[in-house]
Amino acid sequence: MSTDTLILKDQFPGLAGGWHYLDTAATAQKPQAVIDATTAALGRDYATVHRGVYARSAEMTLAFEAARRKVAGFLGGAEDEIVFTRGATEAINLVAQTWGVTNLRRGDRVLLSTLEHHSNIVPWQLLRDRIGIEIDVCPLTADGRIDLDAAAAMLTEAHKLVALAHVSNVLGSVLDVRRAADLAHGVGALLLVDGCQAAPRLALDMAALQCDFYVFSAHKLYGPTAIGALWARKAILDAMPPWHGGGSMIDRVTFAKTTYAPAPQRFEAGTPAIVEAIALGAAIDWLQDVGLARAEAHERDLAAVLRAELRARNDVTVFGPDDALGIVSFALDGVHPHDLGTILDEEGVAIRAGHHCAQPLMDHLGVPATARASFGLYSDESDIAALLKGIERTRRIFG
Ligand code: PMP
Repeated sequence: MSTDTLILKDQFPGLAGGWHYLDTAATAQKPQAVIDATTAALGRDYATVHRGVYARSAEMTLAFEAARRKVAGFLGGAEDEIVFTRGATEAINLVAQTWGVTNLRRGDRVLLSTLEHHSNIVPWQLLRDRIGIEIDVCPLTADGRIDLDAAAAMLTEAHKLVALAHVSNVLGSVLDVRRAADLAHGVGALLLVDGCQAAPRLALDMAALQCDFYVFSAHKLYGPTAIGALWARKAILDAMPPWHGGGSMIDRVTFAKTTYAPAPQRFEAGTPAIVEAIALGAAIDWLQDVGLARAEAHERDLAAVLRAELRARNDVTVFGPDDALGIVSFALDGVHPHDLGTILDEEGVAIRAGHHCAQPLMDHLGVPATARASFGLYSDESDIAALLKGIERTRRIFG
């Protein structure tokens, strides 16, 4: 385990006072570097982008487009393959409403999995209601991974899209994206990957993963809320029609006819999230300085320690595989996760209790909710110790 987490903790004002924050899978705390970048972009440097004829606006435009370059570098994609969105949810809806509406016909099939977040289920159901596509659900292995052997058996030429989470937000299990891409491409389907929980924890390279769409949210990546990105292959983006209409996404507007800007601008109508994009760029700089290899090792190590501690108790069920990344869902016998979460809060420990926007997965696990502890780069064994102490106190209270 990394020995310098305490130094990292010092960089996070949100963790002042020794708060044991174990809800990073919901949203990550922000390092001072991101807060400083936000303050500067909103204050000293603030101006609009793309339109200004004055120097401040030109500088802001450079900073905004530099942020796009940073996202591209982070994902191993090209700059003109990055569309800024409000987050992963909006990115998936964008794909459904543009690529999906254009390319899918009644009877075409989309393959999802049991562990998907609602944001990778509902956009496809909206499309099902609108154009009559069919949705298939790939089951999980006994230990909580997307079962790609089952996917291989399920996929047919009728499947046009496979849409799967890279890392489960409940189980922490990791998808073999390359294999999923090969399977999808084998039947002529595209692969969309929900990278929300992977982006803060794994080094990413679109060329190696071979997927066709990749989405993530900045706020889980130590960046701000209300921004995220869609990466898609340029040829696919170029063939997608616009989505939202307005300023910035056009080439020429007349009442008779409007022509559109090339991708990615075609998908970014209106004044963009300028400050948020710049702060996302700062978050990427910060995360890359720390190092993604270190992030992955740190998350795996902490999760392994917590899993072993929880499994050593005879009153806890732990969900998910042993080699999962830093997200650990569990149930304490006879105690509702909300009660556990409330008692832990009194102990200065923040976990998530609920269905984690993955109700089909809860149905599969046979529980209405789980308790979930999730780690970030600032987490360390003191957080695990505080959690275990709080679980012990809860046990005493509930008997
Ligand atoms: N997918 C996964 C796996 C997630 O964990 C989340 C956030 N909980 C989302 C999608 C949706 O992200 P956002 O709400 O930031 O759009």
